[in-house]
Amino acid sequence: MQYFPLFHKLSGKTILVVGGGDIAARKIHLLQRSGCRIQVVAPSILPVIASNPNCDCYLRLFDPADIDGKALVVSATDIEAVNQHVSEQSRARGVLVNVVDSPDLCDVIFPSLVDRDPLIIAITSSGQAPVLARSVRAKLESTIPASYGHLAKLASRFRKAVKERFTSLDERRYFWEKVLGGTVAEHVYAGRMEQAEHQLKAMIDAPGDAQNGEVYLVGAGPGDPDLLTFKALRLMQQADVVLYDRLVSDAILDLVRRDAQRLYVGKQRSDHAVPQQDINQRLLDLAREGKKVLRLKGGDPFIFGRGGEEIDLLAEHGIPFQVVPGITAASGCSTYTGIPLTHRDFAQSVRFVTGHLKDGSLNLPWSELASPQQTVVFYMGLVGLEKICNKLIQHGRSADTPIALVQKGTTPDQRLWIGTLATMPDLIRNDPPKAPTLTIVGEVVSLHERLNWLGSSVTS
Ligand code: SAH
Repeated sequence: MQYFPLFHKLSGKTILVVGGGDIAARKIHLLQRSGCRIQVVAPSILPVIASNPNCDCYLRLFDPADIDGKALVVSATDIEAVNQHVSEQSRARGVLVNVVDSPDLCDVIFPSLVDRDPLIIAITSSGQAPVLARSVRAKLESTIPASYGHLAKLASRFRKAVKERFTSLDERRYFWEKVLGGTVAEHVYAGRMEQAEHQLKAMIDAPGDAQNGEVYLVGAGPGDPDLLTFKALRLMQQADVVLYDRLVSDAILDLVRRDAQRLYVGKQRSDHAVPQQDINQRLLDLAREGKKVLRLKGGDPFIFGRGGEEIDLLAEHGIPFQVVPGITAASGCSTYTGIPLTHRDFAQSVRFVTGHLKDGSLNLPWSELASPQQTVVFYMGLVGLEKICNKLIQHGRSADTPIALVQKGTTPDQRLWIGTLATMPDLIRNDPPKAPTLTIVGEVVSLHERLNWLGSSVTS
């Protein structure tokens, strides 16, 4: 990091601006928001600066003595020699200096600002790509409500009272998370400041449920962290403890709040590292301790994720929980291999099927699965793949039907095998894939050839 961000308290201090043209005017316009006084020195000064009540203007050349007693120097002239001189003299006197558009002459640079005072966001590309910094700023401007400033002011007024009311740091964090992510914030966004304040006071007086635990059952998607939802990410950042398993990628786990406790409850296909009942019980116990418990699941928690079982016990005991959908493996793998799951010409429906039943058998409604004009996606189907191919052929699906097997879809280890119901068993026998894998059966697989936007390599 070449530049370290610090916020400079300038109110009541004086800044020197050398230059009186357009560039100087722009900097002055920005700087005066801090409540500083501005001394402007230049042989000619624009009226917009001269008439600014925050500025003391001197119509003359820069004199190094101007620097003395200043908190900051800004050189905004278009004469290189002057800028250079101002920079050297400031550095010699130990005063921070900024020279507009000359990073080498600067000790400090101006960031792009998102101003929701007292909430201020500063963005810089360290002078490398200002357009990128500005586009980040534009994004933030459009996603952060203008009323965030009001929310921050409200929080600041109650900070002392909250500190007195809740002694531990954790309690205070829970309290503020509840305030800033709940109805108080909603009132502020809607401009109902009085109700917001009323509600906040009530929560301080009767914090009862402020420290109650809660469980977030969150779908983490198939592997690529970019496929998380905003809500998933927000809750991942709030959790005290996370229970995760094998399907959650490291890249995603890295996004969980840094000091959250991490518990691996990994499952292999037939070897449950932690039995399901124990996981259910653990979620309940941790929530009862008052913790924010994140149960992070691969894909979508309600698709072959046993998400329903995990929250059933919570529901029975009245523990609050939220469920966040995720991108299921079928969606992730199909898009990242350019295989649409439906297509007007080839498949009017798609079925998600488990290739591994609870009792280890493979008793599936084969004649339904073998009927044409549909795509069938098998989860957990690697071990039984040969059987799946044979059964589909036996029940009438053509042996030439295309089939794709996707290994670790959407991750850097994604690989793809493409064959037919007749050839696939041999293909993977010669070059075995690693779990997790997903199998897609149907004519849509042939579209991969044209739609493989990711350019992933194929074994066929
Ligand atoms: N809830 C998950 C599915 C859990 S069942 C979801 O919605 O995606 C576990 C099976 O999901 C694996 O056996 C495999 O078939 C599939 N799976 C999950 N992630 C995958 C990935 N990145 N690539 C391929 N298959 C995946």
